[in-house]
Amino acid sequence: MVIKVASLAEQAELGTISRAPRWAIAYKFPPEEYETTVLDIHVQVGRTGAVTPVAILEPTLVAGSTVRRCTLHNEDEVARKDVRIGDTVLLHKAGDVIPEIVRVILEKRPKGAKPWQMPEHCPACESVLVREQGEVVRRCLNPLCPAQRRELLIHFASRGAMNIDGLGPAVIDQLLDLGYVTEPADLFHVTTEQLLELEGFAERSATKLVGSIASRRRVPLARFINALAIRHVGEHTAETLAAHFGSIEALAAATEEDLLGVEGIGAVVAAHVAAWFASSEGRAVLEHLRAAGVDPERAAGGGGPWSGQTWVITGSLDGLSRADAEARIRALGGNPSSSVSRKTHTVVVGASPGSKLEKAQRLGVRVLDEAQLVAELTAAEGSR
Ligand SMILES: [Zn+2]
Repeated sequence: MVIKVASLAEQAELGTISRAPRWAIAYKFPPEEYETTVLDIHVQVGRTGAVTPVAILEPTLVAGSTVRRCTLHNEDEVARKDVRIGDTVLLHKAGDVIPEIVRVILEKRPKGAKPWQMPEHCPACESVLVREQGEVVRRCLNPLCPAQRRELLIHFASRGAMNIDGLGPAVIDQLLDLGYVTEPADLFHVTTEQLLELEGFAERSATKLVGSIASRRRVPLARFINALAIRHVGEHTAETLAAHFGSIEALAAATEEDLLGVEGIGAVVAAHVAAWFASSEGRAVLEHLRAAGVDPERAAGGGGPWSGQTWVITGSLDGLSRADAEARIRALGGNPSSSVSRKTHTVVVGASPGSKLEKAQRLGVRVLDEAQLVAELTAAEGSR
């Protein structure tokens, strides 16, 4: 509602400051606010594993519809508004659409109401929730989390990933509901009989889908890496990783430092990729796919007899520069690395080796001297 001075002469006399006239004033209705009670605070797991707190409310009619729940966005927001279970809150609809808790009515807070705390474990799979530096959300990092499964399967089958023709969200939802699939590898065991139980399938379309799934057992390595849905690894990064490592085994064996050594791979990606392949859940996904006969093609330039092996050179070499030695290892498919771990295949020891030799011995990693390295390089190069 706008109230104006009627006389034009008086309007002129009152004048205007910047864009606001002094002779008019607008009144707006505030969004209507309603009192309700927070019955509980649940957490919800999204497709990227992000966990969101949601207030469960005493059902209330707000601007024409009944509101039963309302997002609280993240744990910082809950703490800022200090919303507690049992609280009476003021609710409105932002822009008349999205229900939002405006504030808590503190006078009505029940005695003994405790500040809400984000659970430490995923409500769907019990994995420890992780809040990374600089992020406001906590995430479930378990790739087998049921709440994330659906999105993972949809991504796996999608065009940029395994590109399985005819396997869209509608089919995946039904396969999940019937319990025929829980993880990507299960797709390769789906039968025509099972598909016939789904809506919209006849003998011919079922046979066709089984065939198109089977044909994707062998895909380019980059597609396969993308299909794993590792956070921060999209089509482009998957291609970089495929070109560098050449095989899924070599990528899986790479340490975070190995990954940091790849051109175009930054610290965040390196950390996520290494963590994914080190996790028991990630390893299980890979193993099950392998058992289902999925065998991605090796990328051009990769492969070789030392594929998947991590080699560490320590101390100074005599007849061979370290760069040359590493280039020859790489040419055979191996990954030169600078740190020794349980996954290291061989440690080559030059003059004054230092602590890496001790570590290799402690971990029981194979140790060679320079002459033995040259002998093995020559033999492997001759066998190609
Ligand atoms: Zn989970």
